[in-house]
Amino acid sequence: MKTDVLILGGGLAGLSTAHHLGREGVSSRLLVEAKERFGGTAGSEVHRGFTFDYTGHLLHLHDPGGRALIEDLLRGNLAVHERRAWIYSRGVHTRYPFQAYTHGLAPAVVLDCVAGFLETLHRPKTPPAREDFLSWSRATFGEGITRHFMRPYNEKLWRVPLSRLTTEWQGRFVPKPSPAEVIAGALPGADARLGYNTTFRYPVHGGIQALPDALAARLEPGVARAGARVKRVDLRAKAAEIEGLGEVRYERLVNTLPLVDFLDVAEGLPADARAASRRLRWNTVWNLNLGVARAGVSDKHWVYYPEKRFPFYRVGFSSNFSSALAPAGHSAIYTEVSRPGGARVDASALERQILRGLREAGVLRPRDEIVVKAWMPVRVGYVVYDFARAPALRAIFARLAELGVESIGRYGAWKYSFMEETILDGRACARRLAQGAPPPGAAAERLEALS
Ligand SMILES: Cc1cc2nc3c(=O)[nH]c(=O)nc-3n(C[C@H](O)[C@H](O)[C@H](O)COP(=O)(O)OP(=O)(O)OC[C@H]3O[C@@H](n4cnc5c(N)ncnc54)[C@H](O)[C@@H]3O)c2cc1C
Repeated sequence: MKTDVLILGGGLAGLSTAHHLGREGVSSRLLVEAKERFGGTAGSEVHRGFTFDYTGHLLHLHDPGGRALIEDLLRGNLAVHERRAWIYSRGVHTRYPFQAYTHGLAPAVVLDCVAGFLETLHRPKTPPAREDFLSWSRATFGEGITRHFMRPYNEKLWRVPLSRLTTEWQGRFVPKPSPAEVIAGALPGADARLGYNTTFRYPVHGGIQALPDALAARLEPGVARAGARVKRVDLRAKAAEIEGLGEVRYERLVNTLPLVDFLDVAEGLPADARAASRRLRWNTVWNLNLGVARAGVSDKHWVYYPEKRFPFYRVGFSSNFSSALAPAGHSAIYTEVSRPGGARVDASALERQILRGLREAGVLRPRDEIVVKAWMPVRVGYVVYDFARAPALRAIFARLAELGVESIGRYGAWKYSFMEETILDGRACARRLAQGAPPPGAAAERLEALS
C-alpha cells in the first residue's frame, strides 16, 4: 500500500489530523489504529448497561475554533454543567480549588493556609534559576496550602518527589487565586463561581466516545483502519509494517502513539535520540469503574482525596455528567489511582483497598450492591515533567524533524494537555503538511508549546 500521509494512532490527535487533512485537500492519507475502535484515551467502554470513560473526560473549551468544531461535532448531544468539584480532607468536603476555598476546615488549618498565602505576598519575587514544583508551591501558595493540599495531592498523582518536578506544566492547571479570593473562600458563603473552569460540557448520550465517533464519521470510508497495529516503522525507507495491511509506504509520517512506544517500533533513529527516550518518565492511571445499585450515590461531579489513607487521588460520579451512563436506579463511579509507569500492581489487592477507601470516605454504604467492576487502566496516563524531560525531548524532536516526522497529541508530543488542544494539534499538523512545511523540530517555541 502507498499513501501520502500515514497517521499512527486513532485517538483525537490522529482523527483530527485525518479530518483536517481532508479539509485541506489532502485526500491520500491513511490512519491506523491498533484497537477495534477509535478514540484512544477519549473513548468509552460499555459494561452491562454502564458506559465508562477512561476516568472523567470533561470538555473545557478555550479556543473559539476548537469550541466551534466540537460544538458542531456534538450538535444536539452536548450539555453544559456547572462544575461541582470538591476536596475531601480531615473528614470535611471543601470546594475546589483548595487554594481558593478553605471554609469548612478546622480553624487552625484555615489560618495556616490563609496566613501562609498572605505571607507570600511580602516576599521578594526573584525566582531561582531552576525552580522545582515544591519550591514554587511554597513561594506561590505558602506553607499551609502546600502542606495541606499541594504537596500530598501532587505526590499522590505524580508519584515522584515534588522537588524533582519542574513548573512548566502548572500554569494552566494549577490556578493562582487573588488575596481577595483566598480570604473570601475562607469565610462562610464562599461564592462557588470564583475562578477557574466553572462550567464544562459533556455529551448527553454515548459518553465521551461520542466525540471521536463524530470525528471518525466525517472521514471518507477506508481512510481510518481499526485493528491495524503498527509493528515497525523504517523512518529512512519511509515504510511501516501494519498488522492486517502489510507494508505501507508513505511520504510523510504523523505519530500520535506515546512517544516512548513509537520510538520502540521506529528504526533508523540516531542513538542519541534513543538514549534520550530512556530518560522519559510517565505514570499509569489505574482506573477502576464501579456500577452501583443505588441512584444518586453523590450530588458531586468529582472529589479530590489528598490524604494517604485513601489509595485514590480522585473519585468521580459520571452518572452526574449524563444519566445515560448508568441504568435507572444506579450510579456510575470512577476511581483513579496513580503508579509510576512500569510498576507492578496487584490489581485485586488494589481493588480491595479502593472499595475499603470508598466506604471509609462515605461514598459507598455497607449494604451497597456493586453490580459492575471494570478496570480500565491508562498505561501512559500523565507524562512526568521532571528536569530530564525537556532536554530529552529536545534531542528526540531534533532527530524526528530531520527525518520529517511529526509527533503530536498529548502523548506524541509528550505533554500534559486536554481534548480540545489535542484536536487543535491535529489541525495545526494537517495545515503544516498541506503546506509542505517541516515539523516544528526542537525550536524553543516548540518546547514552550510542549509545556
Ligand atoms: C486520566 C485522564 C483524564 C483526562 N481527563 C480529561 C478531561 O477531563 N478533559 C480533557 O479535555 N482531556 C482529558 N484528558 C486528556 C485526553 O484524554 C487527551 O488529551 C486525548 O485523549 C489525547 O489524545 P491523543 O490522540 O493524543 O492520544 P490517545 O488517545 O492515547 O491516542 C493514541 C492512539 O494510538 C493507539 N495506538 C497505540 N499503539 C498503537 C500501535 N502500535 N499501532 C496503532 N495504534 C496504536 C492507541 O490505541 C490510541 O487510540 C485526560 C487524560 C487522562 C489520562
